[in-house]
Amino acid sequence: MFFGHLIDGEEVPSVDGATFDVWNPWTQEVFAQAAEGGPEDAARAVASARTAFDDGPWPRLGRAERADAIHRLADVMEQHADELATLDTTNMGKPLAQSRHDVARSVWNFRFFADHQRDHCGEVYPMDSGHHSFSEYGPAGVVAAISPWNFPLMMATWKIAPAIAWGNTCVIKPSEDTPASVTLLGRLAVEAGLPNGVINVLNGHGTPAGSSLVSDERVDRVTFTGSSVTGRHVMAAAAAHLAPVSLELGGKGANIVFDDADIDNAVHWAVESIFRNSGQVCLAGSRLFVGSGIYDEFMSRFVAAAEALTIGDPFDPDTKFSTLASKRHFDKVASYVDGVGPDGGTVLTGGVDDQGRWLVKPTIITGLPLNAAAYCEEIFGPVCVVNRFDSEEEVVALANDTRYGLNAMLFTENLSRAHRVASRLRAGTVWVNCFFIRDLRTPFGGVGDSGVGREGGNFSREFFTEPKAVVMQIQR
Ligand code: NAD
Repeated sequence: MFFGHLIDGEEVPSVDGATFDVWNPWTQEVFAQAAEGGPEDAARAVASARTAFDDGPWPRLGRAERADAIHRLADVMEQHADELATLDTTNMGKPLAQSRHDVARSVWNFRFFADHQRDHCGEVYPMDSGHHSFSEYGPAGVVAAISPWNFPLMMATWKIAPAIAWGNTCVIKPSEDTPASVTLLGRLAVEAGLPNGVINVLNGHGTPAGSSLVSDERVDRVTFTGSSVTGRHVMAAAAAHLAPVSLELGGKGANIVFDDADIDNAVHWAVESIFRNSGQVCLAGSRLFVGSGIYDEFMSRFVAAAEALTIGDPFDPDTKFSTLASKRHFDKVASYVDGVGPDGGTVLTGGVDDQGRWLVKPTIITGLPLNAAAYCEEIFGPVCVVNRFDSEEEVVALANDTRYGLNAMLFTENLSRAHRVASRLRAGTVWVNCFFIRDLRTPFGGVGDSGVGREGGNFSREFFTEPKAVVMQIQR
């Protein structure tokens, strides 16, 4: 199997013919090759998007026509849903049911933003001076989008969909770990009849493919999802040519379970929030705080639920939990788990697999000091660090004591407390008595090291357009 670049409607190898291995982390085998993009490939992809924007039909289509074209792409994705899900499961090892869910959400990303731009209204500003003003939201130009490997298709479409819906053209660079599904999406865009150059796919590593892409002066917007470290490089590169950036970065989500929580519900979401996708979720509930009054009961149920997850082949329908996405990532997660004992913590359940797989079992840790690496840093794996607390004041301070601020969860049956604590948590999203539920109209993004800017609904409109004020004299 080969995954090339999709440039100007054609799948092409790299200019110099370079390729890299694409892995199946469950079988630990190379199952494909992908084109290794270099500066020249990045330049070609940007040139294709530039021409499609400057001279092509896409930015000039009517809103309904553009929405129809995007819905056609969504239809074609639905026809190829099995292939897309199979590629994500093969390429990063998530259970097939979860990949199917990601494909459905990816389709929804396109449908939502197609309709959102079709139906949007600008603003009118009546003025006392005999004028009125109104706003227009025109496309920004060429969008460079860089995505990570944990939700390969979903994260890419979260960027591509609003970008093209608002009339931009784009170049997406998927992670070098997961080029498969995004390359297929590029092929499907051609099949769906999108004009050439509207969606270009550039494969390759962060450097040089990604860095060349975001440094290109012909790029008008940079949208990036990945680690906080890389986000800093991306922002600096974009700043050199003054391209606005949207950065969705790492997290270390606090999950707070108060004494009055519905325990069944809280245990269910505690498991989902840290073990789904093997914990490779920016929004993971990786720091769990449990009220002293229910600590013992909650923990025995949480540990039992973690141990009940069926671990295995991601293509087996019974599997709920599987491998980490790569050897490199496995080594990283395993090193955090190995450091727990020396740092004074206790592994209540889980630990590193001893069968040679790139797998860390659902792991629950207690007793870590607040400055331990596994407590403070984003592990991005199925590792939950747990603390108990006695008061609301104490737990809010603990939850906010982090450089990250992507999300938090709280579980309580006390409505006043839910409101009070939600508004005091320093996070881009707070879930009360639930997790992972999204309305695509709401702002999504993070505080501090978790990101810059927000996307979703009108927040995506602000980022992917050049809002314009038109001031008109209406009385002489
Ligand atoms: P990463 O930062 O290593 O890579 C992300 C992407 O950036 C990849 O496509 C990579 O090739 C590219 N890249 C690397 N160096 C680059 C450079 N100098 N210039 C341009 N592009 C470059 O992150 P990852 O390991 O792929 O993903 C995991 C991280 O992503 C975690 O920190 C996770 O929390 C975060 N994440 C955040 C969100 C969110 O919405 N906030 C969602 C998913 C993942």
